[in-house]
Amino acid sequence: MRPKYSLIVPVYNEEATLPELYRRVSSVMGQLDAPAELVLVNDGSHDRSLEIIRDLNHKDPRVCYISLARNFGHQVAVTAGLNFVRGRVVIVLDADLQDPPELILDMVEQWQQGYQIVYAQRTQRHQESWFKRFTAYAFYRLLKRLADVDIPTDTGDFCLMDRRVVDVLNGMPERNRYIRGLRAWIGFRQTAIRFERDPRFAGEVKYTFSKSFGLAISGLVSFSKVPLRISTYVGLFSALVAVLMALLVLYWRFVTPNSPLTGSAAIIIAIFFLGAVQLVSIGILGEYVGRIYEEVKGRPLYTLAEVSDFMEFPSEEADKNRAYSHRSEG
Ligand code: UDP
Ligand code: MG
Repeated sequence: MRPKYSLIVPVYNEEATLPELYRRVSSVMGQLDAPAELVLVNDGSHDRSLEIIRDLNHKDPRVCYISLARNFGHQVAVTAGLNFVRGRVVIVLDADLQDPPELILDMVEQWQQGYQIVYAQRTQRHQESWFKRFTAYAFYRLLKRLADVDIPTDTGDFCLMDRRVVDVLNGMPERNRYIRGLRAWIGFRQTAIRFERDPRFAGEVKYTFSKSFGLAISGLVSFSKVPLRISTYVGLFSALVAVLMALLVLYWRFVTPNSPLTGSAAIIIAIFFLGAVQLVSIGILGEYVGRIYEEVKGRPLYTLAEVSDFMEFPSEEADKNRAYSHRSEG
């Protein structure tokens, strides 16, 4: 039987939240008008998450899972889930219940009204640190200004997507997957549902600062060439400064020969300034070149260690990505 609804949940060390997640999600699944599957994607957890997932799978045939061979990161875990699900309607949500599963019912309603993408937009974040709220606020606005596509502010991966959208996403060859950006790029009819983001139900935040930072850079670089242009602008600006400096030095040399700013101080400042400009420019360039390198290598996005028994491999895309994988024994 092919489920109409597929719920994808990436799981990384979420042993403390899984039972409660299952309780709330299965109640929502029961309220849907057609069969639903819950696809848990174990992203290389090293706590008891996988055991709990296997357990849920034994108890409830609606729960299936795939388990990645190591921690590949949230975006890749969601991508893996998208490659596998079979539903006509696909919903992605976090395991930690920061994305209230009950909202899915409202999303489905919007889908029935003809929207192919329904994304959840946070109006408020409860109990997240001041730092996280501020950086997230600033980043989403920066991204909106710089990106070539209109990526809505304050939206995460919590969303509903129609099968057509998922097929397009699965067909996108890129390795650098900033899903909320790709989703915006795809187009179709999109709408937002606003919600207040709950605090994490239990456990630690899995997105460390460096992971969040990496995701932010990935979003910027994947969807904007403006940073490259910035180094050109800064380069032009520093050329201008250099000309002014030259004029200033001449002025000091002839008008105020005893000025303390002539000589080594000015030179040192100029060296540091130019050095910084060059290093930052190379760094920006490196971000793009590094991504080209990643794409060119063409490695599979993830390796699978285990796939729950009853799931079929639905699409060619999943087969392509199924490098070195094997089905579990039981
Ligand atoms: N996650 C994952 N792999 C990772 C990090 C996180 O699959 O490497 C999952 C995690 O289990 C959770 C979701 O991604 O379901 C969001 O993670 P988290 O709640 O830590 O991040 P935040 O709420 O800050 O976005
Ligand atoms: Mg969270």
